[in-house]
Amino acid sequence: MIDQKLIQTNKQRLLKEKAKLEHLLSRVAKRGAQGGDFQPKYPDIGDTEDENIAEVVEYEKNIAEERDMEGKLRRVNDALARIEKGTYGICAAGGEEMTSARLEAVPEAENCVQHESK
Ligand SMILES: [Zn+2]
Repeated sequence: MIDQKLIQTNKQRLLKEKAKLEHLLSRVAKRGAQGGDFQPKYPDIGDTEDENIAEVVEYEKNIAEERDMEGKLRRVNDALARIEKGTYGICAAGGEEMTSARLEAVPEAENCVQHESK
């Protein structure tokens, strides 16, 4: 059995991480109409050629950050869903229980160290 105390601790850590990621995401992206996916924001800096170039640069940065953070947020949300379902800490690849050390190091881990996709 996975330690219930560890699950509760990690749940708090995951909820904190989720709030942080959503906050960071809201700076570079806006939530889609369905409330699901985030869309990178297109910045409006100005209308001169220089400003338009700056917008594209900024937009590309937003796309990269949005993709990175949305991926992290998805893993955090998946982990929270597993806590609710009671499958938290079970390796998705091998079906065995993960060690406490693994879950302490990476609360959103989906796989054990052995099965982690490289
Ligand atoms: Zn495994």
